[in-house]
Amino acid sequence: MRAAVWYKAKDVRVEEREVPELQTNEVKVRVAWTGICGSDLHEYLHGPLTVPVDEPDPLTKQTAPLTLGHEFSAVVEETGVNVSRVKKGDRVVINPLITYGNKDPHLDIYDGFNFIGLGRDGGFADYVVLDEKHLYMLPEGLTLEEGALVEPSAVSVQALKEGNFQAGQTVGVYGAGPIGLLTVLAAKAQGASTIVVYDISEARLEKAKELGATYVVNSADQDPVEVTKELVAEGFDVTIEAAGVEATVNQAIHTTKKRGIVVIVSLISNPIKITPMDLIGSGVVITSSAAYEPDVYKKTIDLIATGKMDVKQAVTKHISLENIVTEGFEALTKDKSEVKILVELSGEK
Ligand SMILES: [Zn+2]
Repeated sequence: MRAAVWYKAKDVRVEEREVPELQTNEVKVRVAWTGICGSDLHEYLHGPLTVPVDEPDPLTKQTAPLTLGHEFSAVVEETGVNVSRVKKGDRVVINPLITYGNKDPHLDIYDGFNFIGLGRDGGFADYVVLDEKHLYMLPEGLTLEEGALVEPSAVSVQALKEGNFQAGQTVGVYGAGPIGLLTVLAAKAQGASTIVVYDISEARLEKAKELGATYVVNSADQDPVEVTKELVAEGFDVTIEAAGVEATVNQAIHTTKKRGIVVIVSLISNPIKITPMDLIGSGVVITSSAAYEPDVYKKTIDLIATGKMDVKQAVTKHISLENIVTEGFEALTKDKSEVKILVELSGEK
């Protein structure tokens, strides 16, 4: 089968690989579509970040070179003898999160996690063999193409949940990349009264408007804190930080209302400065969000299947696996108007 295999930064090769042997509790799926995620791009540009290189990942027991791709939908091709939840021909979406599974769902992820497609072979391949627990049935009316957008959408739904978001509330979103834009859709789908998006790319702000942002603010031209006072006088109930720099974290704090919640969803791995007195004076709470709980994954599938979240709007391009480096990774690096690029594997609808 074909697979896009990560060897090292700037070295992802589309090559022939053997389909792994099926174990009794495993399912072989024929991949339909796989989305390119910011984390795939990070691995391509300056990895390894999550990809295990020197020693096997404790959860997956695998090391690079490995096949990337964690946002994918598929059709069941073959099932191991102990598999009971799916059968050949079922259309499925994959929850790529790998945990130890020893704790309650809301604690489980904090016990250590990795992903199919980052810690072990993933969905930029014709076939993937995986444990049946990773599969969710795709409801009638939901296309395989939409199925490939469940994973990043679930990240946004979880982030809003961590912010205790309720219908009727106001939401600020810093960063109009894929997660920021999907947060706009998730907030709108769940009844946000006002959504304001901040970015420095006009193309991305344009997209945010298209997807349902009430207002967009170009932070390069206008001071977010000053503008927000005019747009949402008291500040936001929930502010999602998906831009990932010191300035936006502080802007998020200063545009959140008293006792409101800032949720950091961007992966900031360097120290940044904030002033605790800003929190003491406002009661603003800073929290974070990581991946998604199983219930949030199911809820996200429902939000998309019922038409409340029209995730197709976030797709800007479809490409073939052979062109994943030039038309995928390189295009996302250079062109800010690209949001979600889908890689066609079987291309089934
Ligand atoms: Zn992702």
